[in-house]
Amino acid sequence: LQKWSDIPLAPPDKILGISEAYVKDTNTKKINLGVGAYRDNDGKPIIFPSVKKAEEILLAKEVEKEYTGITGNKNFQNIVKNFIFNNSNKDANGAKLIEANRIVTSQTISGTGSLRVIADFLNRFYTNKKILVPKPTWANHVAVFKDAGLAPEFYAYYETSKNDLDFDNLKQSLQSQDEGSIILLHACCHNPTGMDLTAQQWDEVLEIIKSKKFFPLVDMAYQGFASGDPFKDIGLIRRLNELVANDELKSYALCQSFAKNMGLYGERTGSISIVTESSDASKAIESQLKKLIRPIYSSPPIHGSKIVETIFNDENSLLPEWLSELDAVVSRLNTVRSKLYENLDKTNYNWDHLLKQRGMFVYTGLSAEQVIRLRNEFSVYATEDGRFSISGINDKNVEYLADAINQVVK
Ligand code: PLP
Repeated sequence: LQKWSDIPLAPPDKILGISEAYVKDTNTKKINLGVGAYRDNDGKPIIFPSVKKAEEILLAKEVEKEYTGITGNKNFQNIVKNFIFNNSNKDANGAKLIEANRIVTSQTISGTGSLRVIADFLNRFYTNKKILVPKPTWANHVAVFKDAGLAPEFYAYYETSKNDLDFDNLKQSLQSQDEGSIILLHACCHNPTGMDLTAQQWDEVLEIIKSKKFFPLVDMAYQGFASGDPFKDIGLIRRLNELVANDELKSYALCQSFAKNMGLYGERTGSISIVTESSDASKAIESQLKKLIRPIYSSPPIHGSKIVETIFNDENSLLPEWLSELDAVVSRLNTVRSKLYENLDKTNYNWDHLLKQRGMFVYTGLSAEQVIRLRNEFSVYATEDGRFSISGINDKNVEYLADAINQVVK
C-alpha cells in the first residue's frame, strides 16, 4: 500500500503560479501579464453592464434553482446553435444543418469542460486516438487530451525566430500525417501567438483535412476578440458548414466558451456541439453525451447559462448592449497593443509582429531569460514563453512596461 507521503509534489500550474508570485510582490509598479482575463484601464476586472442587468432581471424573477438537464436546457442549446452555426439567421448552410437536426449541442462547464467532454467522447467512440495540435498551443489542451486518453502530437504552426506563422511547414507537417487523426483548430485569436490563418490559408488547410480525412475539432474561446464582433469571427465555422452542406466533410465538433466574450469566467458557461451526418446519428450522439456526462458532474451550472439566455432573448436592448460592450473591450486591447508598440525601441529589434497579432495576448518573442529578468528586475510577470496578456496593460503602466522591455532586449 502506498503511503500518502510517497506521493510526489506536482509542479504548480504555469499561469496560475505566476499570479501567486505577483500577489506576493510588494513593488507598487508590479504588472501581471500572466492570466488571460480582461482588466479595464484601471487594472480592475469588470462585469459587463449587460450581464449585471441580466442578473438583476434573474434575481427579480427566479423562483427556483432546480437542476437543468444533463446537457443543459433546450433554450440555451438553441441560442448557441443559432448564434454560432446560423450566425444569427445569416448562414443558410448552418440553418439547414440545424433544421435537419444535424447539430447536437450540450451546455458544458465552460470551454475546458467542453474540451474534456469531447475528448472523453472521442476516446470512447473514435478509433484514431491521435490528436494533432498546433505548436505552440494553450498548455491545457495537451493536458486535457492526454488525461482523456488521447495522444496529442504537434503540427508546425509558428516560427519563433521569425515571429510569424510558419505556413509552409504547417501544411507539410499535416501532409506527412496518416489519415484519420483528430485535428485541433483555434477558431480565432490563436492562444498563445495571436496569429490566425487568412481565409485563403484556411481553405488550403481544409483541403488537406479533407484529403487526409481528419476530424476537425474547433476550439473557440475568444469569439469576438479578433474583430470586436462575434459574428465576424466565425469565418472558419461558416466555411466548415459549407463543406458539410456540400457533402465534402461529414462531421466536425466545436468547443465554445462565454468566459472571455461575456466575462463569465467563473460562471463556467460554454458548450460542445457536434455536427453529425444525420438526424439519427444526432439522437444517438446526444444519448451517449448524456451517458458520458451524468457520472462526471451530472448537469452543468445554471446561473451563467441563464445570463446568456436573458441577454439573447432581449434582442432589442440587452443583446446590442452586450455586443457594443464587447466591442469596447476589444478596442481597449487594440489601443494598448498600439501604445505598447509605439513605446518600444525599434532601433535593434523589430516589433512589427505585435501589430499583426489579435486577441488577448501579444506573443513577444522574448526569451525565457528576458522574461525572468523582467520579473526579477522590474516586477513584470509573464509566462516564460514570452506571452503577455495585454489586458494587464493600461495608460498608467504602458510606458514603464515598454521601458522595462527596452532594457532587457538592449
Ligand atoms: N481554449 C483556449 C484556447 C483558452 O485560452 C481557454 C482559456 O484560457 C479555454 C479554451 C478555456 O477557457 P474556459 O474553461 O475558462 O472557458
